[in-house]
Amino acid sequence: MPIYEYRCESCGHQLEAMQKMSDPVLTECPECKAAQLKKLMSAGGFRMKSSSSAAACPVAGDMPACGAGACPACE
Ligand SMILES: [Zn+2]
Repeated sequence: MPIYEYRCESCGHQLEAMQKMSDPVLTECPECKAAQLKKLMSAGGFRMKSSSSAAACPVAGDMPACGAGACPACE
């Protein structure tokens, strides 16, 4: 199941939500209750080792992988 990251535009609160593709996007911030949640693009959301994820690595650029264990795009 993909993990989606959200950030509240009102208070800056960030959260991760495991949702099915068919689930509706979250809009209400659990912290301040404002309907200001914005879905973030998460490179590590799908946890797949593929050539497409390498392009998202901020360190390696167009290299296959940066090799840093902490890199969410290359782990
Ligand atoms: Zn908030």
